[in-house]
Parts: sequence; C-alpha cells; structure tokens
Amino acid sequence: MISEALILDGARVAADMKEKLGDKVSRLAEQGVIPCLATILVGGDPASATYVKMKGNACKRLGIQSIRIDLPEHTSTEELLAAIRELNLDPKVHGILLQHPVPHHINERAAFDAIAIEKDVDGVTTLGFARTAFGFADFPACTPAAIVAILDYYNIPIEGKHAVVIGRSPILGKPVSQMLLNRNATVTTCHSKTTNLADLVRLGDIVVAAVGKAKFVQADWIKPGAVVLDAGYNEGNVGDVDYEACLENVSAITPVPAGVGPVTIATLLKHTVEAAEKAVSV
Ligand code: NAP
Repeated sequence: MISEALILDGARVAADMKEKLGDKVSRLAEQGVIPCLATILVGGDPASATYVKMKGNACKRLGIQSIRIDLPEHTSTEELLAAIRELNLDPKVHGILLQHPVPHHINERAAFDAIAIEKDVDGVTTLGFARTAFGFADFPACTPAAIVAILDYYNIPIEGKHAVVIGRSPILGKPVSQMLLNRNATVTTCHSKTTNLADLVRLGDIVVAAVGKAKFVQADWIKPGAVVLDAGYNEGNVGDVDYEACLENVSAITPVPAGVGPVTIATLLKHTVEAAEKAVSV
C-alpha cells in the first residue's frame, strides 16, 4: 500500500470557483447586467428534472438568473429548434442549456447545434467541440472542464503524463481526451470495443472514468500512485470506480458524490457569468 490517498474534494474546488464568481456577478450588477442561464427540459424524466432544479438553485445562490423552459414529451425537433432560436435572439439570456437526453424522436445533434456558439455554456455544439479540440474553446463541455479544473486546483501535473480515459461520449470522454492532449498528456481513449482495457488502464498516470457503469473500474487495473477522476454518477450515488478498493493504491482520487459533480455545476455557472461578461464587452 502506498501512502494515504489524497481525496480530491470537489466541494472545495467548487466553493473556490464560486467565490471568485461572486465578485464578477457583483461587477456585472453595477453595470445593470444579471447573468442569465436558460434551461430547456423536454419531457418529464424525473432525474433530468432534478438536475435542472439543482442547476437552477445553484444559479440563484450566486445571483445568476435562471429561466426554465419546460416542453412536453411530444415536442418535435422543429418546435425545439424554434424555442432555442428564440433564446438565441433574447439579449437577456447569456447561456442556454438543453438538458439531455432528449426524447428519442428528437434530433438531438440538430438541437445542440442550433444553440448560438456564444451562448453554448455547456459546450455541446459541434463548433464548440471543434474549438475544444483545437484548444481555444471559450466554453468547453462542463464535466471535462471540471476534471481539468480539479487537477489544476491540486497542482497535479498533466504534461508528460499518460492519461487513460474510459469513455468516448461527445460531452465527456472525447472532449476530456482532447483537453488532456492539449495540456501535453499522452492520451489513450478506451471504449466498449477496447479489447485489453485493464492492461491499458494500468498504463495510466491519470485515469478518467466516464463509463456510466457503477464501480466498473477495479483496483487491480490502477497503477500504484495513479490519480483517478471518477466522472460517473450512477443510481445510488455511486461512481464508475470501485472507490474503496482503489483507495489502496491511488495517490489521489475524486469521491462520488462531492467529486466531479459539484465542479461541473460550478463550471456551468462560471461559463454563464463569462458569457454575460463577453456580451457586455461587445
Ligand atoms: P455515455 O454517453 O453512455 O458514454 C459511455 C461511454 O462508456 C461510451 O463511450 C462507451 O463506449 C463506454 N463504455 C461503455 N461500456 C464500456 C466498457 N465495458 N468498456 C469500456 N468502455 C465502455 O455516458 P456519458 O454521458 O459519457 O457519461 C458517463 C458517466 O458520467 C455516467 O455515469 C454519467 O452519469 C456521468 N456524468 C457525470 C457528469 C457529472 O457532472 N459528474 C456529467 C455527465 C455525465 P462506446 O462509445 O463504444 O459505446
């Protein structure tokens, strides 16, 4: 067993981010501007409704306005696009978040891509992804940005390290791989068709779990001294990593809950405030 693992406290990182944001919100208020996040929820999925509510409450606590647009389950792609376009044109709205997943009959990619790039605070548009890949996105996807923010907060070096990312979704695995690559890590991105997963994960100085399967990553896959970031959030507040077992050989690890999750929400707020600042400076 290596020396005691550092628990990467997402609540602490998020609190630090929000404290800095408070000053920015006050300065915007002096100019008569209240940052505003519009969230669209299509259908009545209870988990999505809870996430939207949590984000709305987080906005309120920081003096950010949040507008919630609830659309019925049977909303068509065209109707959703029309709602997004209306928000794009509304100067009071600085950020737009389309809660996903949307119902299956909707063209989700078309809906994401209808969001104006300057209001894409959740980093979901194709253009936003491309800018992230090139390394100059204003608003990369929030969970990948949160993972990098946690590493930076704790001064954990990225450059020259081998990062293994498990998952390649457009909002998480792929962008976090690109962001770590842009920070000069050597990155291996794994997915469901990866054949020698455990062996690859064992190469990782930094391991990012973004799979969506409870306790999927096993302790004996982790190289002693590796840093583990668990983006997973599964039923029963369980991450994608077998946390208790991995504590034995990691040098640092994010818990679930209170790891990546709170920093993801703080990142969304940060992006919304920055979008408001940019709108003012135009
Ligand atoms: P997703 O779209 O379902 O993607 C899961 C990824 O895992 C896919 O790329 C999939 O590979 C890969 N995968 C599935 N089974 C695998 C296996 N046996 N071996 C290796 N890879 C496998 O999920 P997501 O949206 O990226 O979310 C991932 C997790 O993060 C979920 O638990 C989600 O709840 C959580 N999440 C957390 C936050 C937060 O704020 N903390 C935000 C977003 C998501 P294929 O591409 O081959 O299918």
